[in-house]
Amino acid sequence: MKPETRLVRSGLPEPPAKPAAGAPIHPGPVFASAFRTPGEIADSPYSYARFHHPTWHELERAIGALEGGETRIFPSGMAATAAVFAALLKPGDIVVVPSDSYHTTRALSREYFASLGVEVRMAPTANNAQLAVLEGARLVWLETPSNPSLDVCDIAAIAEVAHRQGTLVAVDNTTPTPLGQQPLALGADISAASDTKSLTGHSDLLLGHVSAKDPELIAKIDRWRTLSGSIVGPMEAWLALRSLTTLPLRLEKQSRNAEAIARFLAARSDVAHTIHPALPNHPAHELAKRQMQWFGPIVSFTLPSRRAAEKFLTASHLLMEATSFGGIVSSAERRARWGGDKVSEGFIRLSAGCEDIDDLLADLTQALDAARG
Ligand code: PLP
Repeated sequence: MKPETRLVRSGLPEPPAKPAAGAPIHPGPVFASAFRTPGEIADSPYSYARFHHPTWHELERAIGALEGGETRIFPSGMAATAAVFAALLKPGDIVVVPSDSYHTTRALSREYFASLGVEVRMAPTANNAQLAVLEGARLVWLETPSNPSLDVCDIAAIAEVAHRQGTLVAVDNTTPTPLGQQPLALGADISAASDTKSLTGHSDLLLGHVSAKDPELIAKIDRWRTLSGSIVGPMEAWLALRSLTTLPLRLEKQSRNAEAIARFLAARSDVAHTIHPALPNHPAHELAKRQMQWFGPIVSFTLPSRRAAEKFLTASHLLMEATSFGGIVSSAERRARWGGDKVSEGFIRLSAGCEDIDDLLADLTQALDAARG
């Protein structure tokens, strides 16, 4: 089965098996903290819901099939990131993190793991610059495309060098989702993501996951989840499972809309710098085309000033002024308002939703015109 068919059938039994006669087509969430466990614990598939849970299991099966590895879900993208760091790093280890990664990943490594005695090295995503500081590292964390500047690095090339010297490779795969890019197939040891974004895509839940092929790595991630209690409630897991069934429809529409918006913005003289991997002037355009099936929803661009950016966002009728990305409703924000990223005051991160592209382009036109006044 193609990934799209698998996704539409998320939560259903593997063909040729079918749901029992009279069973709902899509089973609902299982609300349980404890399960009947007579006699030997190993004889029951479930015992206590911090260890394992049937609704998680269905979601992990669906995401794992996309990633090409075993999967564990977490209550947010940062919980997934923290699980990888906590399960794999010990004092004296070296971790390499992108200097342009999602800013909270940098903060986590600097403020928490560095103080536990882990050496944190940073280098940019563009031009595979992390290779220059890889020597002796236990783990290299990649984020490609990076958020919010959409730089791209070569997962396969970095994995090859890293593996020669015994360094593990983890990829934050949030922006493309595992339908748009499969890090494990490209040679990474771990694919992790915030599923708060396109993977679930309705701006109504936080979620994350970690996937790996190596059973030993997954066992460490699993153990961390059980010990730390970093777990997902059944309702969130079920909402995510339901959302996953429409990922192919949403990601395709978002990616096509983002690309059309990028081309539109690149042709406007009042937009200084439009960044999107589909644009031929993106420094890693060819690599991105090779490495990714879908580029995802984000387009970044710069207006001349903070005032112009604020006027644009206020004038837009269809862009929800909000942080995060990957929702079905298009959104945008002036990124510099948060601090933490090296971006100018007029830098806007836009997330294309699933609206009709003509409506989006008409709205962008009137909002850009208003921002000039
Ligand atoms: N990784 C990336 C690339 C992100 O953009 C984000 C959030 O914006 C995260 C991780 C963290 O995800 P969450 O907010 O679900 O914890």
